[in-house]
Amino acid sequence: MTDALHILKVALDVPLDRVFDYATTQPNTQMGQYVVVPFGARKMIGVVVGISDTTSIESKKLKSIIRLEDEVIFDEASFKLFQFCSQYYHYPLGQTILSAVPSRLKQMDKKAMAKKYLYRLTPKAIQLGVDHLPPRQTILKKIVMAMIDATLLDEASLRSISPTWKKALETLDGMGWITKEAVTLEEARDLTKATIPSLNQDQQVAFDTILKTKEDFHAWLLYGITGSGKTEVYIRLIEEALKKDNAQVLVLVPEINLTPQLESRFRSRFQKFSLVTLHSHLTDNERLTHWRLAKEGKAHIVIGTRLSVFTPMPHLSLIIIDEEHDASFKQQEGLRYHARDVAIFRAKSENIPIVMGTATPSLETWFNATRTKDAKKFGFLKLTSRAVEDSTLPDIKYIDISKSTVTKGFSPYLIEAMRDRLTKQEQSLIFINRRGFAPVLLCGSCQWTGRCHRCSSRLVVHLNQKRLRCHHCGHDEKMPMQCPSCGNTDLYPTGLGTQRIEETLKEFFPEARILRVDRDSTRTKEALNDLFLNMKNRKIDILIGTQMLSKGHDFPHLSLVGVLDTDQALYSPDFRASERLFSQLMQVSGRAGRAKIKGEVYIQTAFPNHPLFAALKTHDYEHFAHELLKERELAELTPFAFLVLLKAEAHQLTHVMQFLNDAMEKARSLSNQVTVYHPVRPIMERLKGMERAQLVLQATSRGALQKLLDDWVPYLRENKLGQKVKWVVDVDPLEF
Ligand code: ADP
Ligand code: ZN
Ligand code: ZN
Repeated sequence: MTDALHILKVALDVPLDRVFDYATTQPNTQMGQYVVVPFGARKMIGVVVGISDTTSIESKKLKSIIRLEDEVIFDEASFKLFQFCSQYYHYPLGQTILSAVPSRLKQMDKKAMAKKYLYRLTPKAIQLGVDHLPPRQTILKKIVMAMIDATLLDEASLRSISPTWKKALETLDGMGWITKEAVTLEEARDLTKATIPSLNQDQQVAFDTILKTKEDFHAWLLYGITGSGKTEVYIRLIEEALKKDNAQVLVLVPEINLTPQLESRFRSRFQKFSLVTLHSHLTDNERLTHWRLAKEGKAHIVIGTRLSVFTPMPHLSLIIIDEEHDASFKQQEGLRYHARDVAIFRAKSENIPIVMGTATPSLETWFNATRTKDAKKFGFLKLTSRAVEDSTLPDIKYIDISKSTVTKGFSPYLIEAMRDRLTKQEQSLIFINRRGFAPVLLCGSCQWTGRCHRCSSRLVVHLNQKRLRCHHCGHDEKMPMQCPSCGNTDLYPTGLGTQRIEETLKEFFPEARILRVDRDSTRTKEALNDLFLNMKNRKIDILIGTQMLSKGHDFPHLSLVGVLDTDQALYSPDFRASERLFSQLMQVSGRAGRAKIKGEVYIQTAFPNHPLFAALKTHDYEHFAHELLKERELAELTPFAFLVLLKAEAHQLTHVMQFLNDAMEKARSLSNQVTVYHPVRPIMERLKGMERAQLVLQATSRGALQKLLDDWVPYLRENKLGQKVKWVVDVDPLEF
């Protein structure tokens, strides 16, 4: 007697927009279960997306699954979300699903997972305090301080403090300073009570207004400068949401903002609830554990970065997005989704409220929340002042570098202001806009500069190692002693790199303690933590940064921000450059004077009369947004139109152009409501040895654009040139 045969429709991680039929004799298979199946000569992980009794495949050719896993990895609601993303971003369903589940699940051979613990200080340790630790034990000290801050630390946080955390914990254990407990996440915890401020009037209005709709879908923009108390409003809303039994809340934050400080603020306010984080600093196992807790409804609060928007949460009742405008919510490869937009779709489909907070909304969101012509899509709530009494906005001053002398990048006014801070024992931050200020090698006689032979980029000087490096492909070569073009030996680095700025500042202020922060040095949570501690304890006088330092963290002794060079972004070909610059400058200005000392911001520019600066001086995002929207409307750009970018690259430019021209013709034949532009080369014409070009589709109707894509993308997939040309479709692209 044979068991009945069932046909499973399996989605696989392959670039084909279809599902595959496999046979199984196992009864009771469920949608969302994952399976191992034969695919060609390989074994692959797949997900069951449908079950049927029939198939169009001949029985001889029908293959059976190799293994069925018990775990159901998504529910009905997540499946809807995957389907939406697959359709909207025109990305195969199987790849969509498999890019959204933790990678640990996809590893074929799983080792048993180690048991997990949380660690806390004993009362004895709390009483004695860090000063009783043996001298020079910096790691012990850091761990104890972090525990004082956070009360409970998990292994991920400990590892981020030091790779030798295990040894340190043994020492602390030997001293009777710590206890550990297994992660169950259910028991109530008796942490010390966090102080809970009473809401000010703006906060109260925002809270009350949002609460009125708490059971239904509604999108809210919570607009307020850094420090105006947005996070406090989120916390109150979450408290309300969690009053319902089993309710779950999802909080999305940009990667850089998910600091131990933010986490501990939430933990101390939600001691009775279980909270998990999902972000890239976790190990695969930790990620899987946290994700499962969410999926099983055991985690009440999930704080995570963009990918966590896909976390299955059976009792999801509220979504919060902090720093809604942040570009890191957009995934730039594979499934090119925007977590904010996916979250809005999810909130709508699960009929729950979503609250988006920021000081500088993206123009899309601003438009949705304030446009007056037709009905507003989002509710609009505003916090008008800083929440902490006595803290005020910094004064913003412009230094006209077309009139003032500049020595190695610094005007004397800025140097004097920094000197003044040093004498007052206050801190300064020197900010360099990230893009395009790396130093390149220049020949003084023929203007030769080092260029990468694989990319259209200039090689960056790394003075310490005496090497030239391409920051796009990693190509690396020795710094030449003489100009390869004319033989001249007078080669010098030009452009302001962080290293050169550091050296210059050391010359100006030999006695100052200077710290340079760049992408490399803040990659780990450990490094960030160090930075915060050292700033707090005034172990740093001057901080040099190329990227936004995390919000949610006050530097109480920081009173001066100097911005060296922003002018390139003022006149960039990317239409979003000024929007990004404004929000960057607003944020970086917000770093000055968050406590009781008045902050000052000095911006060096050759264009002090640029309208962007006028708006920035009065901290007037609204005026700036208003002006930008007018420009965008005239140019028919986002948010007045919807865009799609088709990017293609190949070894030979002719192949790229042939492919794109064909795509352009096809698109034009498909719709007359969509404008199809000619293919153009991007700023980075060549990357890693590949020639690149792209074309833009633009339409005022999202529906018309999507309808075109429905036919166009399958057509592109069929194109024979596709073997030579690598291409991607980016719906709602952020960068061009
Ligand atoms: P944002 O998220 O807008 O940057 P936060 O919610 O982090 O602002 O608030 C900034 C600071 O002000 C925090 O230290 C917070 O504890 C405090 N704070 C927030 N709301 C109030 C309030 N109503 N009264 C007093 N302090 C507050
Ligand atoms: Zn030369
Ligand atoms: Zn290169």
